[in-house]
Amino acid sequence: MIRRSFLKTLGALGLAPIAAQAKLHKAPYSGQGLFLTTWRFGLESNQVAWTRLQEGGSTLDAIEAGIRRCELDPAERSVGLGGRPDRDGVVTLDACIMDHLGNIGSVCGMEGIATPLSVARAVMEKTPHVMLVGDGAQQFALEQGFPLENLMVADSEREWKQWLEKSEYQPVINIENHDTIGMIGMDASGILAGGCSTSGMAYKMHGRVGDSPIIGAGLYVDGAVGACTATGHGEEVIRTVGSFRVVQGMAQGLSPHQACKAAIEAIAEFFTRRGKDWSHTQIGFIALNKSGEIGAYSLRPGFNYAVKSADRAELLDADYLLD
Ligand code: ASP
Repeated sequence: MIRRSFLKTLGALGLAPIAAQAKLHKAPYSGQGLFLTTWRFGLESNQVAWTRLQEGGSTLDAIEAGIRRCELDPAERSVGLGGRPDRDGVVTLDACIMDHLGNIGSVCGMEGIATPLSVARAVMEKTPHVMLVGDGAQQFALEQGFPLENLMVADSEREWKQWLEKSEYQPVINIENHDTIGMIGMDASGILAGGCSTSGMAYKMHGRVGDSPIIGAGLYVDGAVGACTATGHGEEVIRTVGSFRVVQGMAQGLSPHQACKAAIEAIAEFFTRRGKDWSHTQIGFIALNKSGEIGAYSLRPGFNYAVKSADRAELLDADYLLD
């Protein structure tokens, strides 16, 4: 009885079909693993993740290794070490991680630690909480043995000083074609996981948090359905609970491509409804389902993503809504 009324309540909320619809994905996954990662830097990160998986790591281990590669590369200017600062000249990092069972961990606005995804994993595995912010996140990271570093590289400092001359905040579309790293994947047995890591919008207000460390917005994994991660204008992804929306779409029978497209269409509709200028906005989603199908969709052209499986390692351009 209790279960029936619980399902009825979920039904009223439009959520009931998740478990039932997940069974619709009948095609058994027979791959040896699959990774999907935002932007060009995903090619290398996917390779690192793949190697970790082949060495016997879990999907989560592989994703942590793949994202860490990007976080530690000072040449990648939107993630980890070398990420662009906020308008006060402080590099603050956001990240989150989620496994197939619904375990989650997140850090927001953390300074001085180059590998926020690993800190997010430690939050997930070693604390009774799911999210730590600012000083508290850094304090926890230091207690866990993560090194304190200066994350600002010379190029970021020079660009920030140039930006200060006008100090005009404008979300930038497709910065050098690479922003947040979001990686979702599956091992040979179909166990899903995902991670997302970023320095956020360049020259954001100090204290601003985007979608990337918010479970449901920048990342969502449902072990019975699939996974999704987002990149781009975080405020809009939070507003529409973007990644959860995509996974929900897949649970209700949409393909990953259709579910990503539907989420982008919803974002466009929210903009229209609110009468806001969205000429400087880019948002992209990537998704995969339990059957090993993949999909991606963005608001505008310019979003690409890397895919890696046993017989595939390539960069694909996402379809998009607006020219
Ligand atoms: N989604 C990130 C944020 O809003 C930025 C990005 O992916 O470009 O912080």
